Amino acid sequence: MFKFIDTNKKPYDYKKFIMDRVQIDKDSGCWLWTGTLQVKTKNNLGYGKIFKNKFHKETMAHRASYGAFVGPIPDGRFILHRCDNPKCVNPEHLWLGTHEDNMKDMCQKGRQRNGSCKGMHNPNVGERSSSHKLTEEQVREIKGLYVKNDGCSRHPGENSLTALANKYSVHPTVIWRVVNNKTWKHVK
Ligand SMILES: [Zn+2]
Repeated sequence: MFKFIDTNKKPYDYKKFIMDRVQIDKDSGCWLWTGTLQVKTKNNLGYGKIFKNKFHKETMAHRASYGAFVGPIPDGRFILHRCDNPKCVNPEHLWLGTHEDNMKDMCQKGRQRNGSCKGMHNPNVGERSSSHKLTEEQVREIKGLYVKNDGCSRHPGENSLTALANKYSVHPTVIWRVVNNKTWKHVK
């Protein structure tokens, strides 16, 4: 059904556990968590929550989904959303990032205000920001090239969200917005 890596080592059927608790949004492809959500705070947008009896300790639903469908998350790494939807647990919309990626992501999504992003010495912030950095021509190209489910999250195909984000030097969220007509709707 899905082209994700099967870890096959889990003693519990985590995939089923997750699939039983999502509602798939046809337009965006997002798997919206229907279980408990975390309380929204400045740095927490309300991620899905899974309780410890199933996963040994309380974890966020999108992390559990990545673990179940893609593979173990190395220590200290973050699972970030391409689709900007904190409730989404679709492994294809998730990517494995570093602490720095997470900080950048938070800045781009406006979760850190009052200049806390200023201290980040990262020249890529502007270049990879979610603001309009694509030209109309590039947008047309991206819409033509993008292939849904092009490879798995770990081995994305050349026309996947990740690959196109790298090709055009933008954040994967920018590509996601383009191909889902959240931005540049008028470009066909
Ligand atoms: Zn999503």
